[in-house]
Amino acid sequence: MYDAIIIGAGPAGITAGIYIKRAGFNVLVISKNESALNKANKIENYYGFEQPISGEKLVKNGINQAKALGINIVSKEVVGIKYSENNHYEVITANQSKDEKYITKTVLLATGANRNRPNIKGIKEYEGKGISYCAVCDALFYKNKDVAVLGNGEYAIGEIEELLPIAKTVTMLTDSKEYIENRSNNEKLKINNKKIQEFRGTNQIEEIQFEDGTTEKINGIFIAQGTASSLDFAKKLGARIENNYIIVNENMETTIPNVYAAGDCTGGILQISKAVYEGTKSGLAIINKLREMSKIKYYK
Ligand SMILES: Cc1cc2nc3c(=O)[nH]c(=O)nc-3n(C[C@H](O)[C@H](O)[C@H](O)COP(=O)(O)OP(=O)(O)OC[C@H]3O[C@@H](n4cnc5c(N)ncnc54)[C@H](O)[C@@H]3O)c2cc1C
Repeated sequence: MYDAIIIGAGPAGITAGIYIKRAGFNVLVISKNESALNKANKIENYYGFEQPISGEKLVKNGINQAKALGINIVSKEVVGIKYSENNHYEVITANQSKDEKYITKTVLLATGANRNRPNIKGIKEYEGKGISYCAVCDALFYKNKDVAVLGNGEYAIGEIEELLPIAKTVTMLTDSKEYIENRSNNEKLKINNKKIQEFRGTNQIEEIQFEDGTTEKINGIFIAQGTASSLDFAKKLGARIENNYIIVNENMETTIPNVYAAGDCTGGILQISKAVYEGTKSGLAIINKLREMSKIKYYK
């Protein structure tokens, strides 16, 4: 059991981790090893560097600083977060072995901004009317129905695995040639790599229109493109989202108790300094929450 699990090892996640660890709590950082900063060749506007520093080097420095403090950093892709017993949370990773379990009292979402939302006509209109972002939450609505999953990475595979035991058929909608067919070897699984033009329906989603003029009848579509992000995790837990950013209070806590968010995923100024500030704020708030929790336990 961890006191805190941080998803993301960018400036927000690492900063929070440093504060939480230094306060004596048991913190784990899980990260996929890619930050928005890896794409930045030169950083010239962050405090303390006389010469420009590359984003990659800055990220590496942060991770090394955390490791030097004894923070455990696991290189894994997170695919989901579930509610667990006693108001705890369970963080699920791709290719998780049976004996691996990540249970925690608090969670910090710090996976950066969503930069790869699919831009397909119909997605917005049918959100909640057949378009879903959460197989764990919504799969049961599609018992013996035909559903599709948009995406082909670990996140999409995770969603497909949730749906296969429940749905009649599951179609993986992907434009990639690199199918992961053998990972989900099931006769209910179909793969369709035609280019999608639009999702259509009346009150509910009903069909997919492909660019080649063909259509496919469908009852539900689960969006799981690229890597799952803080926004996806927040949506799955039922946290409040506005304009694709997570809503937090002054302590960086989402509308779900003990789930915090920091950095680019909360919107506003998408810069390192703001990510570090929110990492600090969330780290301190998590420390206070954990201290409160241990007091409650002590006096019981
Ligand atoms: C090209 C470019 C140039 C930029 N230049 C500047 C600049 O000059 N100055 C400046 O201040 N800012 C710059 N920025 C913005 C800056 O990179 C971000 O504001 C900052 O990195 C946000 O920090 P973060 O911790 O919120 O997220 P990120 O740095 O994006 O870190 C996110 C972390 O989450 C992890 N992650 C994501 N999904 C998962 C998952 N499913 N499972 C596990 N881990 C996951 C990633 O691997 C990463 O460790 C630039 C951004 C870009 C794209």
